[in-house]
Amino acid sequence: MDRIREAILNGATPDQLAAIALPDKYRAAHVLKAEQEMFTGMASNDKDPRRSVHVGDVPTPELAPDEAVVAVMASSINFNTVWTSIFEPISTFGPLARLGRESEWSKRHDRDYQVIGSDASGVVLRVGSAVRNWKPGDKVTVHCNHVDDQDPSSHDDSMMGSNQRIWGYETNFGGLADLCIVKANQLMPKPTHLSWEEAAVNALCNSTSYRMLVSRNGANMKQGDVVLIWGATGGIGAYAVQYVLNGGGIPVGVVSSPEKAQILRNMGCEAVIDRSAANYKFWNDDNTHNESEWRRLGKDIRELVGEDPDIVFEHPGRSTFGASMYVVKRGGVVVTCAATSGFMLEFDNRFFWMRLKRLIGSHFANYREAWDANRLVSKGMIHPVLSRVFTLENVGEAAYQVHHNMHEGKIGVLCLAPTEGLGIDDPELRAKVGEKNLTLFRR
Ligand code: NAP
Repeated sequence: MDRIREAILNGATPDQLAAIALPDKYRAAHVLKAEQEMFTGMASNDKDPRRSVHVGDVPTPELAPDEAVVAVMASSINFNTVWTSIFEPISTFGPLARLGRESEWSKRHDRDYQVIGSDASGVVLRVGSAVRNWKPGDKVTVHCNHVDDQDPSSHDDSMMGSNQRIWGYETNFGGLADLCIVKANQLMPKPTHLSWEEAAVNALCNSTSYRMLVSRNGANMKQGDVVLIWGATGGIGAYAVQYVLNGGGIPVGVVSSPEKAQILRNMGCEAVIDRSAANYKFWNDDNTHNESEWRRLGKDIRELVGEDPDIVFEHPGRSTFGASMYVVKRGGVVVTCAATSGFMLEFDNRFFWMRLKRLIGSHFANYREAWDANRLVSKGMIHPVLSRVFTLENVGEAAYQVHHNMHEGKIGVLCLAPTEGLGIDDPELRAKVGEKNLTLFRR
């Protein structure tokens, strides 16, 4: 692996890279099937990724014809890293077993360990015999939509594929490792003005927010739309704020501290709600809804921007969903991709039907959407929201911090990259985009 790292750092040619033998094992962050019951009976908050995520060598799998091996320079923590490592809401070894039954090649995924991680930036080392558009030496980022391109259901919008999966969550061989195995149709060009770790944090969250807000598959936001964004300095929220500002909308960002509120203002989001200071209590102690608190949130939004939101960018789930469905304007759209605080949701249907509101479920992004979102990063129109960088050895601690909401934006992880700041190929574009924009979230 050291030879691969040195070759990349010294700018080896594609032929030189292709000539280096792949190691038969590689360093990877993984969870173990034998430990999938280790947290049974514990409260979610007590389940500790530092106990369940291991970093050590795993065997290098054989490469399928439609796949590529990528030397991972950097990766990132996503909330799905947390879900996998606390085995909630399900253990991901179930989906791996199902994938393993699909084909000869997919059997490889069903192992007694799972290499986790759904983001990566790096360099292509090998491509399978059926790969046309990529070659060793290409600098890439990886999106996490794992699609069966022989399934007809994948051929309108690939997120509708009946066996669509999230790489590194519902598949093996993920990105929190020195090598990863991906389908060729997960590859995208690495933005040239970014370092490896800045390039690694975008694909999952940026593409998700793009589909939720910009795509016709999501809320299809238009100029002037007021968009309420929960967790507006979190992983997906921080990209959502940028899309609303870029698209001529009016973001109302909700966060939980004065420090996060300041980050939002620095991004150009003027309407900010600190939910901790506001101390909303959407649920009563007896598990009934507190409608007057929904009204208070609506009033706070109107005080800031003069009207109700056209769109609510929803993901906290149980704790906020009833309020989101209430405050969105008549005819407005709630778009949701998650339920961090609980997935059994409740809302008052009377306000929903009488006010002709709509609810859209959204999940990651198809290749086209991920590509378009990556293009905006490459053009310096959407910026990475990297706050901190951990080493691969410390992935457990990084996942713990995301689990406990101790972070802002995205946490990057150095894999083969020995230090931060490497991999910038276009310093001129970087200067034009502006260091300030690229480091707004840095701690
Ligand atoms: P994140 O970085 O942890 O950010 C989430 C933010 O939500 C937090 O920073 C927090 O902000 C806010 N939040 C958390 N609990 C809340 C609550 N009870 N009430 C109100 N706000 C709350 O996570 P992320 O990467 O943005 O992901 C958010 C969720 O989306 C996760 O569940 C993740 O699994 C999911 N997700 C789904 C997809 C998909 O394709 N379906 C893709 C990406 C992410 P404040 O404390 O500042 O308010």
